Amino acid sequence: MEKIAVFGLGDMGFPIAHNLVKCGLHVIGMDLLPEKVSALVQVGGHTAASMVEAVHAADAVLTVLPTPAAVRKLYLYDGIVKHAKRGTLLIECSTIDFQLGCDISTAAAVAGLGMVDAPVSGGTARAAEGKLVFMVGGSREDFDRAEKIVKNAASSVVHMGDHGSGIAMKLCNNMLMAVALVGVAETCVLAQEIGIDPRMFYEVLQKSSGQTFAMDALCPIPGIVPTAPSSRGYKPGGRAALMLKDMRLVKEVAVSLNVPTPMADLATSLYTIFCASGGADLDGSAIIKLFAPRNEGSGISVLNKPA
Ligand code: NAD
Repeated sequence: MEKIAVFGLGDMGFPIAHNLVKCGLHVIGMDLLPEKVSALVQVGGHTAASMVEAVHAADAVLTVLPTPAAVRKLYLYDGIVKHAKRGTLLIECSTIDFQLGCDISTAAAVAGLGMVDAPVSGGTARAAEGKLVFMVGGSREDFDRAEKIVKNAASSVVHMGDHGSGIAMKLCNNMLMAVALVGVAETCVLAQEIGIDPRMFYEVLQKSSGQTFAMDALCPIPGIVPTAPSSRGYKPGGRAALMLKDMRLVKEVAVSLNVPTPMADLATSLYTIFCASGGADLDGSAIIKLFAPRNEGSGISVLNKPA
């Protein structure tokens, strides 16, 4: 049986690893936090004493790490690429920049390893259900190998094209998502202030031209969608800090191509303020707190209440 080492057992990596275990795969879970590793072992996963041991044992390595810096450190230098056996497949699922994706795929090719960029979309709820979308860049041969593994955590696995094309798709998706989330948040506040019943607002929007995933799944008004982060105190979900990281990656690309992105720029500014005011570890839908209504009964508390 193929052995898959999964590095990063956080909000996304844990459910991905768990779904692979549930489908009968031999998963070696690794995380800086021992409690995350223990949780995977308790549900049937395995672990290893070190990164080198995990990589030596694995036929494929899948990574879901929080930042490009963490990904660079784990793959390059004295990392995964140096220690993996020839023929190992690397599946990089974090949201990172093109340059880093290119650096890893180049180093992997030199070392005789397969590699795909395979960022994911769907958030923690879909991750738990095993219904993520994987956007994959790399050769057809590497895609076919990766698909056999990640389909166990996916509703859809799409081959976007060559190296970097998965990252490109993911950054565009997240750009639109952040802009939509800000639009949904300010509209919800206005609707509440006008006095539209929040439940009716949600239901009618779903059938109307304003319908969007940002409202359907991440409704920022608490208590309307039970699975939405707002209904559990805006616990992530997708952390605002990660959304801001992605928006900054989007901006790098847009600047390099001289493409104007005024809406994304505004969303980035709002998430910058939000994160700096204490919202970084809340779900991105908590951006509604920036526009928090004066109405005390709204259920949406402001971040830093004036004394
Ligand atoms: P997270 O912070 O919840 O989890 C990251 C995990 O990686 C943590 O448990 C951390 O301890 C671990 N880690 C860091 N460095 C490590 C290393 N060297 N070795 C092993 N483990 C290490 O983050 P997340 O929400 O799971 O996001 C992970 C990636 O997926 C990010 O790039 C994010 O942008 C992307 N993503 C997140 C979501 C979401 O909704 N949360 C959705 C799509 C994509």
